[in-house]
Amino acid sequence: MSDNKVNSNIVIPAELLPRDGRFGSGPSKVRQEAVDALAGHWQDYLGTSHRQKTVKSVVGSLRRGLSELFSLPEGYEIVLANGGASYFWDTAVFSLIERKSQHLSFGEFSSKFAASAKKAPFIEDPQIILSEPGSHPLPEANEEIDLYALTHNETSTGVAMEIRRPDGAGGLVAVDATSGAGGLVVDPTQFDCYYFSPQKAFSSDGGLWVAALSPAAIERARSIASSGRYIPPALDLVTAIDNSLQDQTYNTPALATIFLMNEQVSWMLANGGLAFSAGRSERSSSTVYSWAESSKFATPFVKDPAMRSKVVTTIDFSDGIDAKLVAGTLRANGVVDTEPYRKLGRNQLRIAVFPSVDPEDVEKLVAAIDYVVERL
Ligand SMILES: *Cc1c(COP(=O)(O)O)cnc(C)c1O
Repeated sequence: MSDNKVNSNIVIPAELLPRDGRFGSGPSKVRQEAVDALAGHWQDYLGTSHRQKTVKSVVGSLRRGLSELFSLPEGYEIVLANGGASYFWDTAVFSLIERKSQHLSFGEFSSKFAASAKKAPFIEDPQIILSEPGSHPLPEANEEIDLYALTHNETSTGVAMEIRRPDGAGGLVAVDATSGAGGLVVDPTQFDCYYFSPQKAFSSDGGLWVAALSPAAIERARSIASSGRYIPPALDLVTAIDNSLQDQTYNTPALATIFLMNEQVSWMLANGGLAFSAGRSERSSSTVYSWAESSKFATPFVKDPAMRSKVVTTIDFSDGIDAKLVAGTLRANGVVDTEPYRKLGRNQLRIAVFPSVDPEDVEKLVAAIDYVVERL
């Protein structure tokens, strides 16, 4: 039994329904064109060896495509391995933090990397800079720090931050871009490591992590590996780098995930790259925020407009309106995954507007929410 609340008397009229009702923050909407393309290769790609050219050429295309999408400078490499962004935190603890890291902690995801670093016995306790949910702190340059852990988009609260190296800092800048990458603009000279998963803006399935690494990050991983520190082989970043340079992964990856992600990157590039994909999310998010600002019952959760995410929007409802009932009623009408992040515990909707989401569907969604609320 699910605990979904629903008002089953409300039937949203067809003209107010988005053509595609998926607004989840991950797994998020996968485009039909990508699934159709995969179906066209059910026999010559799915179920074939990941050590042969058929699959390696898709991995190669994905790596080149991402380098182009992020305009990576000379010497940066796209590296991938199994496990998703959560596994990358542990990989970074073993392979990127030399002695001490600094973490900006402003929600569920950013706090988890900090917690991983705190548990590791072979590095010092991390410095953790906190801020209230709904805002983000800023990094502070400190000569003891050799890795600054930033989060481009905190998916649990809908807060995004601009990625900039702290002034005068010598350490590596490692960015959790799991839900930001591909939907937010970024300057690659401001990071050494920009890591993400395929199931958010890249409209694929979960289970892999992908990272853009600077020469300094690659050098750091190699130097830690040769220092004698124990590193579990499956979490060793050097192993991931060496395999990725040959367009493969250390162990067997999900081939469909790689294919769908490559389709998404090709779609972004064919339409104008990051300016196109981030532009779509910007347009969709401004539809949500302007609707909420002029609404009698809804307000953006993030008070400072500069911190409001353009990929994951969070909208508080006034006390009289039960957001769970709204989300459940939308769900019963085929509009899914607008529920808030559970642990945040607010009376709100969380609406993801990754690049795959059609901005016109977002206009329909806000009209559908008004329709539901008027009839609760
Ligand atoms: C989803 C998410 C993660 C976790 O990603 P997995 O692929 O499930 O490990 C980490 N960080 C952020 C910011 C996320 O949005």
